[in-house]
Amino acid sequence: MCSMKITQNDLEQQVVQLEGKYKQLQTKYQALQISEKNIRIYLKNIMEANLPVTFYWMDKEGTFLGCNEMQALSYGFQTPEEFIGKNIYALGEMHGWDKKLCDAIRQNDIEVMTTGKILSREEKTVLEGNERICLSYKSPLLDDADQCIGVFGFSVDITERKVAEVALQKALTAAEAASVAKTEFIRNMSHDIRTPLTGIIGMADMISRVPDTEITKDSALDIHQAGRALLNLLNEIIETTQLESGDMLHKKGCFQLKATVDALIAIFKPTIKHKGLKLEVFYDDNIPHILFGQELLLHRIILNLLGNAVKFTDQGSISLEVSLLQKKTDKVSLKLVIKDTGIGIPVDKQEVIFDKFSRLSASYATPHKGSGLGLYMVKEFIKKLGGDIKVSSAPGRGAQFICTVQFKIPTSTQLKKYQSHLILNEIAPTILNQTHHKVRILLVEDNEMVQKATIFNLTSWGYDEVDVTPSGKQAIHNTLLKKYDLIYLDLGLPDMNGKDVAQFIRQDTHSPNQHTPIIALTAHADEKIRKECVALEINKVLLKPLLEEDFKKNLLEFLGQQQRLPIIDELLWVKRCGNDVQLAKETQHMMLEQLPRIKDHTTAALKEKNQAMFNQLIHQCESELLYCGLPVLEATTALLLIAIHENKQEEVKTLYQTFCDEIDRACQTLIKKG
Ligand code: ADP
Repeated sequence: MCSMKITQNDLEQQVVQLEGKYKQLQTKYQALQISEKNIRIYLKNIMEANLPVTFYWMDKEGTFLGCNEMQALSYGFQTPEEFIGKNIYALGEMHGWDKKLCDAIRQNDIEVMTTGKILSREEKTVLEGNERICLSYKSPLLDDADQCIGVFGFSVDITERKVAEVALQKALTAAEAASVAKTEFIRNMSHDIRTPLTGIIGMADMISRVPDTEITKDSALDIHQAGRALLNLLNEIIETTQLESGDMLHKKGCFQLKATVDALIAIFKPTIKHKGLKLEVFYDDNIPHILFGQELLLHRIILNLLGNAVKFTDQGSISLEVSLLQKKTDKVSLKLVIKDTGIGIPVDKQEVIFDKFSRLSASYATPHKGSGLGLYMVKEFIKKLGGDIKVSSAPGRGAQFICTVQFKIPTSTQLKKYQSHLILNEIAPTILNQTHHKVRILLVEDNEMVQKATIFNLTSWGYDEVDVTPSGKQAIHNTLLKKYDLIYLDLGLPDMNGKDVAQFIRQDTHSPNQHTPIIALTAHADEKIRKECVALEINKVLLKPLLEEDFKKNLLEFLGQQQRLPIIDELLWVKRCGNDVQLAKETQHMMLEQLPRIKDHTTAALKEKNQAMFNQLIHQCESELLYCGLPVLEATTALLLIAIHENKQEEVKTLYQTFCDEIDRACQTLIKKG
């Protein structure tokens, strides 16, 4: 038998080996301990991190076993410990959720546990009264043996992202709709521009070939109408862009609503008659005679609605009703009803017709013309007038537009100002129909057609002393040699910018035309240009082409009151003194003393920069002139007051100079008369 002898040495070796192994194990154990500690630290970091993420885990019954701080906080708890032990129903109760919602959430948990699949979905929850949208993931919670013991959930609040997404989608849809409308609009425009253009080209060709006959006259009328149609179209488009850029300015002032309505009806009467339609108008006499506000907006509203009614009706009738809804001490609410028996509008289209460029049928497909901007503008204008618009209609059964608008009742000062303005307008036609040999006008314009049209218009009003130059330099030369009463100045000249020409004239103290009214002509409907011109003391900026009525208006404004009214109107004076000749004489003496005083006091007020005093004195003067017969001075004062009221500093300056000159002239004439 062989026996192994364990020597002392062997034993020692084994001990050394065992010691080595023990050390190895000890190092491993320590390493494990460190990594476990680290894991705990990492976990703690994750649980407490201020991330916009929440997570939790629960047992099979749905009782929460733990969560991160964000989760606890977002559900209104201070610490995760408070969250532990609750379930979805307890949370639901705390935040006022529907039981059905809690059931659905619980159902999700069960699905995750039974299928073992990860579930992801968007969920809506209400936290502290605010609806939030969360992107949630749920996954089974497993033990060491991979057995499901509950659910682990993780969720991110995506409310802000969702809101941005919805806004983006909305913008996209709107942009697409706008793009479709724009394409349709351009197609309509192309058609609508082509039609009058055909007229213009065709008629012009005919005129150039036929000798002077009736045909020439008819064709010229056609050209004129076609040109006007084009211009209207262009103006509508420009007005829309100005409305959107906030550049649209509409003066507030007194106006006579009845006169506005009558004038509008007069526009449509010929077409209504031509189409064989019946017209019914109801005007409520309880509406105050004179109102204050933006008359032009109301004018455009009725113009568009009546225009549509006439356009879309081939038989039956059109009616317009203007009635008083409510009257307070300082304002009125009015109701406008425009009704027709025309083609009507389907119910599902009654909202879209108010969109920009929207038309129910393309202009190339129907005889009805239009830009599709009318009702859009109407709606915007009504908003500006503090009202609203409703439509009721059915296809083939006509349409009815009901609008409300509000206007102010004028104050006594506003009324007075308006009355003096009326005087000017009353005398206007007689002024402009007289002959005007002495008035000298300078026209600075390089386009020959515009030259011809302007000269034609000026001579038709009796102004035949017109110097014409196509160049800016020549214009400056002319203004140095001759005193003009009015200058029409094109801004786009070939050799110089019109604005520079104006600046030169205004800055040259030796120029006899330093204060001559300048009317700038431009083809750009741009508010910036207008402001630049005002800064250069250009009196008015007009958009090309100038129409007959534009000439009438500005000739009246700049020349009317100075040139053709008598300085003293004896008959008017006596009439205003109740036909008492003696009283008229006495007031003439009084005015001879009073007028220089007014001039001195206003000049002093200006020197002292006392604007309030200046305004008050001019107002006072206006009241006194109402008992006299000094039409030129009266009209100048009225214009000056308007400029003061509208805060047009430059106009006030020019008009005040005229006002002083007119006082001198009135006094001299009164002295001469004795
Ligand atoms: P348009 O310049 O085309 O007339 P609007 O904005 O004024 O533009 O009107 C938009 C569309 O609404 C019209 O093209 C037409 O289809 C419809 N519409 C407006 N008014 C009437 C009406 N009185 N009767 C029938 N359709 C109308």
